[in-house]
Amino acid sequence: MDLGLEGKVAAITGGGSGIGRATALMFAAEGSYVAVADLFADRAAAVASEIGAAGGRALPVQVDVAQASSVMAAVQAIVAAWGRIDVLVNCAGIYQRGTIEDIGERDWDHVLDVNLKGTFLFCKFVVPVMARNGGGAIVNVSSISGRTKSDLAAVNYVASKAGVIGLTMCLASQLAPKGIRVNCVAPGTIDTPMNVDIPPEGREVLLRRCPMGRFGRPEEVAAAILFLASPLASYITGETLNVNGGVFMV
Ligand code: NAP
Repeated sequence: MDLGLEGKVAAITGGGSGIGRATALMFAAEGSYVAVADLFADRAAAVASEIGAAGGRALPVQVDVAQASSVMAAVQAIVAAWGRIDVLVNCAGIYQRGTIEDIGERDWDHVLDVNLKGTFLFCKFVVPVMARNGGGAIVNVSSISGRTKSDLAAVNYVASKAGVIGLTMCLASQLAPKGIRVNCVAPGTIDTPMNVDIPPEGREVLLRRCPMGRFGRPEEVAAAILFLASPLASYITGETLNVNGGVFMV
């Protein structure tokens, strides 16, 4: 099926690993120009090389999404290379487990800065670029932890991911007149480097709660992101799509 993403310029934060990497590869396979933005330049470069080796078009971009000056420079670099940005996927994120006693002020600030402020900053600097070119699509990455109670995730992670859903709805209504759709995915537990240190007993608990009885694959979240970014979702905005094997349903 043609998703209508050929020739589009897609910027993927956190594109160097896990869900972001899978999303970058999938956009490239659809014929999009892909900016792979990540904290570590070598990780972004590795994914960009992977795309290039498969015949795709990719630009590695080093960025710290928590720093406005770094995000501004990243957006400028993408526009300098390709002249536009049609799709933004805010996938960069960090995770923390624990109780409120474990979370200090620095932990709170760090997780909120990357997950929530980082999403805000990328939207802020990309929106004028999209608006100039007649519109675009933004897909943010929240979490099941932002929608319902979480047994493992800490308060800072949960608050950041609930914030991403609120930010998505607010921007969706503000930006609709500019032709920009803003949506969100809320993954359950996905097999990525973020989850390598879940202890075996924790994995058991999570698997028992999942009607599908398994963790998700990064490609399964990427597929939902591509759908929301594509013209197939042309009348969908402000939505948060669960990708969680049935663990949480609304
Ligand atoms: P991942 O494999 O750790 O990928 C996240 C990427 O974001 C990493 O390359 C990471 O670099 C990068 N990153 C972290 N801080 C950054 C910063 N300040 N600036 C730019 N890039 C930064 O994790 P993932 O599982 O694919 O997670 C992707 C997104 O999905 C996250 O937002 C996460 O919260 C969300 N999510 C994941 C799951 C899951 O079960 N995996 C479930 C729900 C939601 P470093 O590795 O150096 O930190």
